[in-house]
Amino acid sequence: MYFFKTTEELKRHISQNKSSNQKIGFVPTMGALHQGHLSLIQQSQSVCSHTICSVFVNPTQFNESSDLQKYPRTPAKDIELLTLVGTDILFMPKLSEVYPNGMESSLAIDLKGLDSVMEGKFRPGHFEGVTQVVHRLLELTQPDVLFMGQKDFQQCVIVGRMIKALSLDLELVACPIVRNSSGLALSSRNMRLSVRGREQALILFASLQKAKVTLEKESVKSIVSSVKKQFLESNADLEYFEIVDGHTLEPIADEKDTDFVVACIAAYIEGVRLIDNMILKGGF
Ligand code: AMP
Repeated sequence: MYFFKTTEELKRHISQNKSSNQKIGFVPTMGALHQGHLSLIQQSQSVCSHTICSVFVNPTQFNESSDLQKYPRTPAKDIELLTLVGTDILFMPKLSEVYPNGMESSLAIDLKGLDSVMEGKFRPGHFEGVTQVVHRLLELTQPDVLFMGQKDFQQCVIVGRMIKALSLDLELVACPIVRNSSGLALSSRNMRLSVRGREQALILFASLQKAKVTLEKESVKSIVSSVKKQFLESNADLEYFEIVDGHTLEPIADEKDTDFVVACIAAYIEGVRLIDNMILKGGF
């Protein structure tokens, strides 16, 4: 595995080695890698000739500095895992490599309101940071295919919108959510949970499953209110639970309103903010 820490090394390697018959896959991450991340690498390897992974904890997408400070960092283990799965290139830059001219963004994209709901509502500025860093990393890695996890559903939709708005010449592949055997979606943030916290966190998956099973039998309003009630009776703190149109991210009143229905949830367990989602109808 080639391991680059500077943009100069990365760019030189790419320009010297890129040829027209290669298909480059790119997997951006913030590290503390787990099987969810590795599934993206594996998906890339199955369709691309070369796979680049980046590990960079991007400060501009954190709206709370304490969240950024507490974000898990396991660089040695990340290098080991990426080597083990046969990643071709790891890019693990310092802040000044990604933002040599400072963290102010000059990128202006009309996200059509996709960034003002759910994550965008509760994490102001989050998606400006996400689009800024993804755009910068795409500029450096020049991939043909970008692999992102459906775990961050809204992020996938917004990056898809960015690609369209800027007419970027690449394909976005949204990869399925990897869960543990109990249903908990793998997340770097799970490391911060106790064993009991991980059990309590199953309420997120249970809520999504409930929505999936009852979508055709109950009204959206009644599903949402019963999930909210369950949270009131639990130790978890619900931030939002919404059943939305997967294209517009707007809440729906009836499942027949759209061909793409997604349930999205964010909640705090032991002070750790977790998100999850489930496609209830249709898909990307
Ligand atoms: P992160 O390091 O959390 O920014 O995640 C990097 C990429 O991995 C994003 O595209 C995530 O959506 C994806 N990812 C994170 N967790 C999972 C998971 N459990 N299953 C599939 N993809 C995931």
